[in-house]
Amino acid sequence: MEFHTEKLSIVRNFAKDYDGRMLLVPRKILLPLLVLAGLACTAGLGLGLWGVYSLSYNGALRIVSEDVETRARLRAAVLQSEMERQTTVSLVLSDDSDVTAALLSNRPALYTSVSQKLERLRTQTRSAVIYIIQASGQTVSASNWALPVSFVGSNYSFRPYFREAMANGTATQFALGTVSRKPGLFFARAVTASGRRLGVVVVKMEFDPIEATWGGLGEDTYVTGPTGEVFLTAHPERRFKPLPALTDRQIDTVIDLPGVGWKLHVISSDQAARDTAIAATLTAALALGLLGTLSAWQWRRLRQRRQSAAREAEYRERLERDVATRTEALSATNERLSKEVRERRTAERRLSRLQADLVQANKLASLGQITAGVAHEINQPVATIRVLAETAASQKPSARGAKALIAENLSAIIRMCDRLGHITSELRTFSRKASSDVEPVPLKEAVESSILLNESRLRDHRVTLNCDPIDPALRVMASRVRLEQVLVNLLQNAFEALDGATDAQVRLSLSADGDRVRLRVADNGPGLPPEVQAQLFTPFVTTKPKGLGLGLVIAHDILRDFGGALSAESDGTGATFILTLRKAPDPAP
Ligand code: ADP
Repeated sequence: MEFHTEKLSIVRNFAKDYDGRMLLVPRKILLPLLVLAGLACTAGLGLGLWGVYSLSYNGALRIVSEDVETRARLRAAVLQSEMERQTTVSLVLSDDSDVTAALLSNRPALYTSVSQKLERLRTQTRSAVIYIIQASGQTVSASNWALPVSFVGSNYSFRPYFREAMANGTATQFALGTVSRKPGLFFARAVTASGRRLGVVVVKMEFDPIEATWGGLGEDTYVTGPTGEVFLTAHPERRFKPLPALTDRQIDTVIDLPGVGWKLHVISSDQAARDTAIAATLTAALALGLLGTLSAWQWRRLRQRRQSAAREAEYRERLERDVATRTEALSATNERLSKEVRERRTAERRLSRLQADLVQANKLASLGQITAGVAHEINQPVATIRVLAETAASQKPSARGAKALIAENLSAIIRMCDRLGHITSELRTFSRKASSDVEPVPLKEAVESSILLNESRLRDHRVTLNCDPIDPALRVMASRVRLEQVLVNLLQNAFEALDGATDAQVRLSLSADGDRVRLRVADNGPGLPPEVQAQLFTPFVTTKPKGLGLGLVIAHDILRDFGGALSAESDGTGATFILTLRKAPDPAP
């Protein structure tokens, strides 16, 4: 009991895994272990998702950046081509013969004609304004000559682009217009004749239309000058200021604009990349969740399958064990039964041997009683034979009638020898061990033999024996010797019962009943004692001092072996034994 409790407590200290197998993990440690495992799983999952987010964010950012760069390059290209056109205009005009001629002649009419030309050109080149300044700094022709804001007459000798162009032949300056107050890029180019600088052609380019296209795109576009201040922007308030500081969610895509030393900036948001990354992470989380659910389901199914397989295996094992135990028990029973059958057969063989021995012993006992009578039966004829022989021997052959006497004596001797032979032959047959075969036996012969063997006793007991005539052809199913044994036994019992009685009688009567024959052996003795009748055909029941009490039992068994029966009736007038025998089938004709 103590051992049992200890065992239980040990079992409780162990955790069971999903298969019900014992895990060598004490329960105290199991919970923290599970919590740790859960935390590790969550951390791993978080890290994984963060990895997915970072990867997809970087990927999306690269794509977004490439898009923005493409757009920036496009804008830079547009800007550049526009600027190149304006440069070309200044280049072409600096070499224009009308312009050179006008500057050389310094005639107002020619200046006006050039102004008209500039006005036409401006509309075609979409320049803001085109004008020509003579070497003194005085503006002589201008595309806006006809307008109130005409530059003609204004002196721009102070403007850096004029001075630089006069000095170096060419100049580019981003500045506010002195009259329009509008910012623009001034392309200045010196007009040279015979190595002398006659003046400067200026083409002002304004960026309002381009800047207008930059607005409303969801991203800011700036162009900064060499010093980093903003020149071009859709937001005029930010002009001539440094580039606004970027937040960490903004990307600055920069394209160099060669020639002027400018940079085009497109400030875009990483929102699209973030949205893509969030979507990818959510998808991954969803996929993970789905995978987890699927795995859990699969694991559950696997577990159920394993459990049912284990249950099935256990059931099969138990069944096999049961079958083995049952088979073992059955073979043991079978073995025992076979042994019993063998023993029983041996016992039966021993019993039947014993019975045969008993029958023989009973017969020999009867034979003992018969022998005395038979000896008497033999002595008498032998003495008679002797007297007859002596009488014959004492006759003188010559005497008259001697021959006839001798012949008569000899024939009497022969008759007596025959009778002696008959008696000894019957005695020999009776004493032989009977065969167990049942065969047709002539009833008359069997009855006569048993009477013959008892003849002297009949005489000794002064018993009168009456026997119904029996048909010599009547045959019954029996064994001759054993049938005689039964009859001898019954006759002896009758004689013994009639011992000392006056008018002792034994009667043998015959009756037929279908295929049965009934032979009754009746005496007029005292009848069966009641204690014998109560246990009739039971072994060792006897009233005789030297009796065995086996005669009737054996007779009863013998008749049963013949397929017949033995019964007894008794009253104050004597005892009657009835032998029922099967009639033998008639022999084939
Ligand atoms: P046993 O002759 O050795 O006693 P039996 O079996 O032949 O054995 O007979 C059993 C008993 O049945 C006898 O002892 C006798 O008492 C009784 N018995 C048999 N035959 C007769 C008969 N004809 N009349 C009276 N009693 C008989």
